[in-house]
Amino acid sequence: MTKLTCFLLLLIVLSSCNNKETKSYDLVIYNAQIIDVEDESVSEAQSIFIAEGKIVEVREGIDKEKFVTDRLIDADGKFVMPGLWDNHVHFRGGDTLIGENKDLLPLFLAYGITTVRDAGGDITPSVMEWKDQIAKAELDGPRIFSSGPKLDGDKPAWPGSIQVSDSGDIVAALDSLEKLDVDYVKTYDGNLSAENYYKIIEEAEKRDLKVTGHMPMSADFMKAISLGLDGTEHMYYPLKACSPAADSLTKLDLGYGMIEPLIDTYDPDLAEKVFEKMSEENVFVTPTLYIGKTLSEILEVDHRQDSLLNYIGSGIQKTYQGRIEGAKRAKASGSKMREKMEEISARMIEPMQNAGVKLLAGSDCGAFNSYVYPGQSLHGELHALSNAGLSNAQVIKTSIINGPEFLDLGSEYGSIASGKVADILILDKNPLENMDNLKKIYAVIKSGEVYDRERLNTMLENLR
Ligand SMILES: [Zn+2]
Repeated sequence: MTKLTCFLLLLIVLSSCNNKETKSYDLVIYNAQIIDVEDESVSEAQSIFIAEGKIVEVREGIDKEKFVTDRLIDADGKFVMPGLWDNHVHFRGGDTLIGENKDLLPLFLAYGITTVRDAGGDITPSVMEWKDQIAKAELDGPRIFSSGPKLDGDKPAWPGSIQVSDSGDIVAALDSLEKLDVDYVKTYDGNLSAENYYKIIEEAEKRDLKVTGHMPMSADFMKAISLGLDGTEHMYYPLKACSPAADSLTKLDLGYGMIEPLIDTYDPDLAEKVFEKMSEENVFVTPTLYIGKTLSEILEVDHRQDSLLNYIGSGIQKTYQGRIEGAKRAKASGSKMREKMEEISARMIEPMQNAGVKLLAGSDCGAFNSYVYPGQSLHGELHALSNAGLSNAQVIKTSIINGPEFLDLGSEYGSIASGKVADILILDKNPLENMDNLKKIYAVIKSGEVYDRERLNTMLENLR
């Protein structure tokens, strides 16, 4: 070794000694088995150092003399992973249900969900207020990303939507959404024209806003993709692109009456090409399989004894009646649309995944979406994706990795690593081995704030 090398080594040793002065943290978790969902690995005996809502450092072992912390958690070999994302929820039902919607927020945390993507409703000012309060730790609930009001035609399907009839309306609508500081744009198809749907995508593309949602059944999914569509909610619209009969069916102007013949003419070879294109263009899909199943069985399953009803306000419970009436009408008309849609949707998942399409786990829970309970329903969706053929790691990825990626936030979420937001689940057992282990929650940590089992139970008890 030369004298110079010796000198340099001494410098390195000295400077690293200097770094070892006592550091201070808000929270340190040690003795954790950290799950990396991306490479399906587990690292043992890890310590996670958290300050100001962020993970500062992750390393093996612990030396308790080298730091001070407000709270120290011995994970005792338990499994640690990022908090879950429900990528499709709704807060809605009008001003009289604002309180009942707000009451649902702790329910998400209790089920390990630290982030929700709100897919539009009619109480946006309240949602934005909660979002703010949760971010400041003044309110218990998941981090909220929101589309704000949906964009629809002049006869919108849902109250609170922004109505657009021409280019001027679209520019004004997007101006207002930008003013609201929404996280993305949600389209809906009450009577939005195909032409205006395309224009929304083009105008949003210019402004670097993400667009996802429903598509008018008169529109062409592949054209929407070529214009810059970022995502699609539910499976109807990719389905349309997978039928060679789509163009001729469009001319018949059947609306959703087109779905059954589309399913009947589904072409797996065409589907493969469609999914490849979607993957290439980075179009995300939120399949919402669980709500599809729940609604298709709504007349057969007796939900009156569901324990989760204890946490749902009476006003929201009343909105559940609408889907039951709709199902009765569909049954009377002989429609098998929901059952067939459930089957084809599940069949499309594996080829989509294999083509590299990014799937998003979203429950579609909220008022009017009967018996799809906040919190529990995301686990239902994860199970449905698993039943459709995804591995456990692939399923979990649709929640915690693809969720942030859709919003270009992959660098801040999705793993337990330094620099990431401290949204963390501590689980008794390994969810890579069994999806049910995602519900064996020891503690939920949201922006470094600890909700241990006792605190979660108290929150639930107060909700009853
Ligand atoms: Zn929805």
